[in-house]
Amino acid sequence: MTSSTHFHAGISAPHEGAGKSLFFAFQDDRLLIHQNPDVSLPERGSFDELGLARGSLHFLGSLGEQPCFAVDLEEDQPLPDGMALSGLRRLFGAISEELFQISGRAFQVLNWDRTHRFCGRCGTATDYHETDRARECPQCGLLSFPRVSPAVITLIQKGHEFLLARNARFPGKRYSIIAGFVEPGETLEEAVHREIKEEVGIDVCDVRYFGSQPWPFPHSLMVGFTAHHAGGEIQVDGEEIVDAGWYSAHNLPELPDGISISRHLIDWFLEQQA
Ligand SMILES: [Zn+2]
Repeated sequence: MTSSTHFHAGISAPHEGAGKSLFFAFQDDRLLIHQNPDVSLPERGSFDELGLARGSLHFLGSLGEQPCFAVDLEEDQPLPDGMALSGLRRLFGAISEELFQISGRAFQVLNWDRTHRFCGRCGTATDYHETDRARECPQCGLLSFPRVSPAVITLIQKGHEFLLARNARFPGKRYSIIAGFVEPGETLEEAVHREIKEEVGIDVCDVRYFGSQPWPFPHSLMVGFTAHHAGGEIQVDGEEIVDAGWYSAHNLPELPDGISISRHLIDWFLEQQA
């Protein structure tokens, strides 16, 4: 696979004769891979050539000319020789960033499909919508689209330092920047100010968009910002956030790994200071 290929999302699968397709098959939250010894994804004319029992199959789009499908694998079945199931996070760096992103997309589509089989309003079994990625209730017409939950994540700068906090749920002694889900009715900027005030008790200004990252654990979209400290002393609640402080390149604690936009923001800041 060349790096010049690009992914184009789609809903309707191309007609047959398109050659081998790429399959992103998940059993629960683990992806089916080849290990020999490099990690690769199964490519076949049809998924059923693998002889595995499956549930639904969804066309996702094409990577270059190659059709990509998400597949819901049935539980508890032996895998073909040389194949294994892997958690998505562990595959970061082992497959290309493009394949990693499509894997996340596949998981989000499957997770939506598994959790919207019945109408949330009247309980009737849902059908697939003909042209959109949606499930439609044949009784009351309710449409259910794949869920995406936006969250904001902000690097707060104060001179040559930036704020890191330790969430009680973080593994080990890891610190990161401030993140939280956007509430209904809130702008992204309002969410930035509210989350920072709630978690570390300070005010910020000069909130600027940095970039975004789909985060399929299970269906977030991380929206990254930078901001400057505008006032207030750090105060943590001691429950969700157990510690927070100002850090620079000289006193860094354990940081998030390279997969996340939090680390991209931190690395960006440190490069600016270098
Ligand atoms: Zn309904």
